[in-house]
Amino acid sequence: MASLSSDKVNLLDFDRAGLRAYFESLGEKPFRADQVLKWIYQQSVTDIDQMTNLAKSLREKLRVNCEIYLPDVMHSHVSADGTSKWIFKLRGTNSIETVFIPEKNRGTLCVSSQVGCALDCSFCSTARQGFNRNLSSGEIIGQVVLATHLLGQNPVTQSHRITNVVMMGMGEPLLNFNNLVKALNLMLDDNAYGLSKRRVTVSTSGVLPAMDKLKEAVDVSLAVSLHAANDELRSELVPLNKTYPIAELMDACKRWVGKGDRKRHVMFEYVMLDGVNDQPQHARELVQLLRGFPCKVNLIPFNPFPASGYERSSDDAIQRFWQILNKNKIVATRRQTRGDDIDAACGQLAGEVSDRSKRELKFVEPRFGENL
Ligand code: SAH
Repeated sequence: MASLSSDKVNLLDFDRAGLRAYFESLGEKPFRADQVLKWIYQQSVTDIDQMTNLAKSLREKLRVNCEIYLPDVMHSHVSADGTSKWIFKLRGTNSIETVFIPEKNRGTLCVSSQVGCALDCSFCSTARQGFNRNLSSGEIIGQVVLATHLLGQNPVTQSHRITNVVMMGMGEPLLNFNNLVKALNLMLDDNAYGLSKRRVTVSTSGVLPAMDKLKEAVDVSLAVSLHAANDELRSELVPLNKTYPIAELMDACKRWVGKGDRKRHVMFEYVMLDGVNDQPQHARELVQLLRGFPCKVNLIPFNPFPASGYERSSDDAIQRFWQILNKNKIVATRRQTRGDDIDAACGQLAGEVSDRSKRELKFVEPRFGENL
């Protein structure tokens, strides 16, 4: 069995501040850290010897003490439209999934934060796997590094760019706070990926203390997995609601948005489960809850998996739900997944690699209501 860690320091585990401090501890000038970041994240160079603007002595020091560790690519599937799903094998026995979704004017990478998940949401297949461990920050940002490399290598996808990152893969990002923040810093850092805060989204089931901390730590966009507007139903779907019920969640969202003229908002995700949370009364409850709050609602048709016990809402039910929101001036988009095999879709990122590997991926995301 491969060992879980190596004796060497993984350079991907540092954000800029951390790498600068590390270089100082090696007796090097901190600006060398910026050069290394540019090599790794902008030039896609992961061989220290190719970092030609570093002195030979520094390269030698780095070679002895450090590594640039990336997981192995265990499985790669690229559909004709460029939608890609990868399974990355970590050191040890675990693997994670990362998905790239190209759209007309953007390319979104869906990144995992944990192996498995502890939150046990009733409609999510990752929950079935249970919680294995947190990802290191190197394993989080490593998904962006690897995806960038892999997109560039494939003729179908080489023109595709990662313009957006959503922390919507496996796991609850806010339960892996410190590693998450370091990886987010690299996504935003001009010496690394330089993405704008609007293009980096953390999705949470509502870990309230960490939501407040996140606001202080790093400026990114926030998505909250709501799924129901009353506590009884939400506690059934998202057990974390028993700890942090809706009223407290909304208070935390208000704190997130803050006062003043900064145009912050929250994206509320709402999975559409047939006969469970998709009825007109649920839409009206949602309107009551969100009225006047700066937000968008993203309606996500449930993605089925074996023995889930749920079914996807009908198109009619989703349309009716959307209309109620729309009539009440709540901006809503509908995420539409199409095709029989959509294993890369929300909530389907589980570890059952073997029976998934041969399936076709079809993933389309037309939206309506975006311009209301
Ligand atoms: N733990 C985080 C992020 C991971 S899930 C969170 O809860 O937000 C990303 C989104 O996919 C969440 O809104 C989640 O509720 C949703 N999701 C999970 N399982 C799903 C399924 N089977 N079908 C559709 N959406 C699902």
